[in-house]
Amino acid sequence: MRRISVFGSTGSIGCNTLDLVDRAAGEYRVVALTGGRNVALLAEQALRLRAEVAVTAHEDCLDELRGLLAGSDVEAAAGTGAIAEAARRPVDWAMSAIVGAAGLPPGIAVLEQGATLALANKESLVTAGPLVLATAKAHGGTLLPVDSEHSAVFQALVGEDISAVERIIITASGGAFRDWPLEKLAGATLAEASCHPNWAMGQRITIDSASLFNKALELIETKEYFGIAPERIEALVHPESMIHAMVGFNDGALMAHVGPPDMRHAIGFALHWPERRALPVERLDFAKLGQFTFRAPDEARYPALRLAREVMAAGGLSGAVFNGAKERALDGFIAGEIGFLDMAAVVEEVLTKLSADSLINADISLDTVAATDHLARVEAERAIRARV
Ligand code: NDP
Repeated sequence: MRRISVFGSTGSIGCNTLDLVDRAAGEYRVVALTGGRNVALLAEQALRLRAEVAVTAHEDCLDELRGLLAGSDVEAAAGTGAIAEAARRPVDWAMSAIVGAAGLPPGIAVLEQGATLALANKESLVTAGPLVLATAKAHGGTLLPVDSEHSAVFQALVGEDISAVERIIITASGGAFRDWPLEKLAGATLAEASCHPNWAMGQRITIDSASLFNKALELIETKEYFGIAPERIEALVHPESMIHAMVGFNDGALMAHVGPPDMRHAIGFALHWPERRALPVERLDFAKLGQFTFRAPDEARYPALRLAREVMAAGGLSGAVFNGAKERALDGFIAGEIGFLDMAAVVEEVLTKLSADSLINADISLDTVAATDHLARVEAERAIRARV
């Protein structure tokens, strides 16, 4: 029986992962499930799947979790230390689906066991790509991408030599505002930014899709995971979200990964890898679909893409600066402190302010990433206050 853990089990990716696990529950022994404030769902999942331990990130939720698990064999725990402890419990496979920089430490702990880490948490590679890859290598851990674009690239590369790759194209739906006039974007509301045209995802990634910060994170993730030069990585707006990525080879061939916008494909691929197993996702009818459309992303409209290029060129800890500032700016937009377009302006201001070589080129460790993330949030806070 495979021992598995799911970090962020109460979120969109976490629930989709457990949907697949539920369908073959006899094959898995669930070790740890972790969540945040949705303690009722966490407890229900832990009881249903008979997890060893359920962990909420918030100490003030522990009593409620304990109450819900009373009389069962499931242990209850709380706090980031408890999540890290849960990540050290031996597993064969784990899903990293906590949102934000908080997802990095448990992922590293899983790789340190030499286990397989299915990585949905894109912030891990953005903030600490070299550390994540080096940890996997040093301990014999396996890192499998779950972001749909990166899973698509991974699948297109099976049996291929990376040195024959000329370019990688990752697609973007264009998000909630892809057809809005530029002048209207400044007034975009939280409710408007929280509706994705094609994918059902958590609120934060949905807003990041509207600003294309999500695609910006994915450009950096592509560079880090596949080790491809930034100028060979392109983003392309594809409103239908059916082609997730394309890999162009040196003989002119282009391998496209096509599938419905359902994360259970990429999650299932990572869960069953290296096998392919039947998955409960829609089969496409091309005659019905009719056509696929594409357009170049407009960088005036989406400054996040330009900033991602700067981060890829700078390397080092600049990804941690970018992500920390972006997370704080996103909090600011969600809280109504700043407008939609202010998010990119805040991130750019922080990147400029924290661009000193000594900071960006410091060693990448969990401690330096956490310190950089903190500094970026403090600077972003200052930039937000200056706007309020
Ligand atoms: P959700 O917001 O739906 O879920 C996030 C999960 O993380 C929840 O379990 C949440 O708990 C938990 N959580 C939130 N904050 C913390 C914290 N500080 N410490 C520990 N746990 C926390 O996010 P998604 O599932 O949409 O996304 C998860 C990750 O996967 C993100 O990095 C995202 O970018 C990436 N991703 C998501 C895709 C999608 O389709 N959703 C596609 C590709 C990548 P609770 O809800 O109980 O508070």
